[in-house]
Amino acid sequence: TRVVQEFDKVVDTLCPFCGVGCQTSVAVKDNRIVQVDGRNGYANENRLCVKGRFGFDYAMSKERLTKPLIRRDDAPKTGDLDLRGVDPLTVFREATWEEAMERAAVGLKKILDTRGGQALSGFGSAKGSNEEAYLFQKLVRLGFETNNVDHCTRLCHASSVAALMEGVGSGAVSAPFTDALKAECIIVIGARPTTNHPVAATYFKQAAKRGAKLIIMDPRGQDMMRHATHSLRFKAGSDVAMLNALLHVIIEDKLYDEQYIQANVSGFEALKAKVKDFSPEAMADVCGIEASVLRQVARTYATSERSIIFWGMGISQHTHGTDNARCLIALALITGQIGRPGTGLHPLRGQNNVQGASDAGLIPMYFPDYKSVENIDIRNAYENFWGQTLDPKRGLTVVEIIDAIHDGEIKGMYVMGENPAMSDPDQTHAREALAMLDHLVVQDIFLTETAWYADVVLPASAHAEKTGTYTNTNRQVQIGRPAIDMPGEARQDWELIVDLANRLGLGWNYGHVSDVYTEMASVMPSLKHISWDRIEREGSVIYPADGPDTPGNEIVFSSGFPTSDGRGRIVPADLLPPDEVPDAEYPLVLTTGRLLEHWHTGAMTRRAGVLDAIEPRGIAAMNPREIARRGLHQGDMVEVETRRGTVEAILRADREVADGMVFMPFCFNESPANKLTNPMLDPYGKIPEFKYCAARIAPMAKQ
Ligand code: SF4
Repeated sequence: TRVVQEFDKVVDTLCPFCGVGCQTSVAVKDNRIVQVDGRNGYANENRLCVKGRFGFDYAMSKERLTKPLIRRDDAPKTGDLDLRGVDPLTVFREATWEEAMERAAVGLKKILDTRGGQALSGFGSAKGSNEEAYLFQKLVRLGFETNNVDHCTRLCHASSVAALMEGVGSGAVSAPFTDALKAECIIVIGARPTTNHPVAATYFKQAAKRGAKLIIMDPRGQDMMRHATHSLRFKAGSDVAMLNALLHVIIEDKLYDEQYIQANVSGFEALKAKVKDFSPEAMADVCGIEASVLRQVARTYATSERSIIFWGMGISQHTHGTDNARCLIALALITGQIGRPGTGLHPLRGQNNVQGASDAGLIPMYFPDYKSVENIDIRNAYENFWGQTLDPKRGLTVVEIIDAIHDGEIKGMYVMGENPAMSDPDQTHAREALAMLDHLVVQDIFLTETAWYADVVLPASAHAEKTGTYTNTNRQVQIGRPAIDMPGEARQDWELIVDLANRLGLGWNYGHVSDVYTEMASVMPSLKHISWDRIEREGSVIYPADGPDTPGNEIVFSSGFPTSDGRGRIVPADLLPPDEVPDAEYPLVLTTGRLLEHWHTGAMTRRAGVLDAIEPRGIAAMNPREIARRGLHQGDMVEVETRRGTVEAILRADREVADGMVFMPFCFNESPANKLTNPMLDPYGKIPEFKYCAARIAPMAKQ
């Protein structure tokens, strides 16, 4: 913390908005943030995007929760609640902390005692710190006696992690995004970095300017294509066809690295057999890319000295998301484009701490550091460490939990900083589930769409009000520091988890966030040599580190993989169609995503004045040709409809959207795109198909 004349103080902390993890300086006057600047962090070198620079005022919003709330006995809970304009105090009454915490704990305990731990569940958050994630999963595993704990990683990169764990033995990136500057060839597929990872995008553009070959693959056009040597606007859902065609060319032309494969890779023969039928000529029509372009791209990637692949949710949010990622892993493994500077695999992580929250065990199948809950030796070690018998079965994932509520199996839930009423697919189904719960405790900074369904609402701390560590997409563990005080009676999230744990009889005793970090790090080999003191001193340390004084390793897999036999494993992928394809009734493809100005469900950015002023209303974007063909006009109010519901939005003309496609962002509660999306899951990552479903569009009937 520094004192600067015109400010009361300037605090060195982090941007709360995305996995890039930009380091910031936050200037404070009279307990209000008045300015945010970029610092010279490893991931941002003084840069910030519009969210980081201008999105800070959400923390000071008048809508912040300042007192605990308890639901009124006569307040209805229905799946189609329309609460716009409703006074919260007609649904809730204010309560003391003692009453609210006791109500929260008693409701959960009653379900535990009468129906057992499998009737309980918890959604933590990738917005929270590592320490909060660790405590939350520990509370669910010990206090609720179940592994039914998950968070929004299930909705973004779960399929990437499933493929990476299977293929290279680790779900994290093999190289930081800044290594784009060392690459000769950069593939960006299914990602829109200028929108969703804007500061990372500056490194990609910089690399292209220095002469790197930049290959963008995306069914939608995008800004970065102006900087690309190759732009492949392939047909939505045809990822495996296109990627298998690239693998086919590399094998046919013998551009693979035989020596590397022999020493480090298994499954090459099976891949060879699988991609034999995927010639570029055979796949050109399937994926909509000319065979000659596919051949050129395959050769560029394979023959460049250093090639690196970045991907986003265009790859992962499909029912074949794991297969998509398997193809990318195969590309890197057969060419040996991994384990060296300027090479590797990098799933661009979405939320600011989705890497850290997953690492900390906030997922139903793994303890911290991806140790299986079903492995008896590991479970015994945790039972000894935590002093309690643990659930031997993997828990349910986000969408499975919603389904289990519908089936009457789950009756109680604790949600910290997550907003499933907006983020889950088939929103009506998800909201009906929330309404069906016997007991829902929501801990948040705003009365989110989810919190309206709660029995008890616990006002918590914003990012700018707390100390904690966060792990960005590069594996950099960084420290966030408090800049302003919490409003009203709001409390620290970690203290609330501990309070609830103790009311459930766990007898926890942590004096400071650093105590939580130290306990967590003691069971996570990935954090070896990265003590709390070191993070405080250095501000950011990349894992894994070889010693307490040596910098962390930016590049991993230089000598083999952390798999059982030390080899990378290729799993060939088949071409499978999306779950729901367009037909005569629903002739369009609906795809969803984010906008530059808004983050995820909009809980924070829609309360940030500048950001919401730039993008204030829900849109449906279509290509101008498609709009004209339908006799519509930009600015019309339209209804977008799928088999799951209808949503009103303003029609926007956007040349980046392919013919036959509608794009909707999912952050607008007045135009909730997830009311339309398909909840069908990828069988491995259990991620829903947010990127593809059948839809139709019609002008809104005049009132
Ligand atoms: Fe924040 Fe991400 Fe923008 Fe950096 S790139 S300022 S972390 S939103």
